[in-house]
Amino acid sequence: MAEKTIFLKGENMLDDINDIELGGLEVNYYTVCPRKLWLYARYIRQERVHDRVELGRFVHEESYRRFKKELEIGSVKIDLLEDGAVCEVKLSSKMEEAHLWQLYYYLYYLKRKGFSAVKGILLFPKEKKRKEVVLTAEVEKKLSQIIAEIIQLKKEMFPPEKIRKLSFCKKCAYFEFCYA
Ligand code: SF4
Repeated sequence: MAEKTIFLKGENMLDDINDIELGGLEVNYYTVCPRKLWLYARYIRQERVHDRVELGRFVHEESYRRFKKELEIGSVKIDLLEDGAVCEVKLSSKMEEAHLWQLYYYLYYLKRKGFSAVKGILLFPKEKKRKEVVLTAEVEKKLSQIIAEIIQLKKEMFPPEKIRKLSFCKKCAYFEFCYA
C-alpha cells in the first residue's frame, strides 16, 4: 500500500502483535471510564444517537479536506496523515488526556506492526489548537499496562462500577444507560 511509505520500517517487530488488536477508541474510552469501555466492547452502542458524536463526525468530515483521511491498518483507523505524522481530529480538548492515549496507542500499534510514525498530532479544529507528541519509553510502558488491563476487562462478565464523575457522565453517550 502506498501509504506505508510514510513510515520508517522498524527493526524489532514483536511476536505478540495479535495480542493487541484493540481499536483506538477502546483505549480512549478505557482511560475515561472502564465501564464505558466494557459497554462499548459488548457492542452496546449509544453513540449514533448522541449529538456530540454526530457533531464530532461532522467536524471531522469538514476539516482538513486536503489531507489523506481514514487510513485503516489492522485494528486501527487513523483520521489523517500529515507529512508522516499520524493525526487524530477531536471536537474538543476537554478530554485531552484520553485523546492523547488514543493517539499514543496508534503510534505504539504501528511501531509493533513494524512501522514508526514520525510523531502524532492531536487536532482540535474548532479550537484552532494542535498538540504534537512522540512515543517515549515511558509512554510505551504505560500503554503496555493499559492494554493488559483492557484485555482483562473485556473478559469480565459484569461491567465495572460507574465512575460517578457527573461532569464526565453527563457528556457520555452511555449516560441514560447508566443513570436511567
Ligand atoms: S455514564 Fe459515566 S459511568 Fe456510565 S459509562 Fe459513561 S462515563 Fe462511565
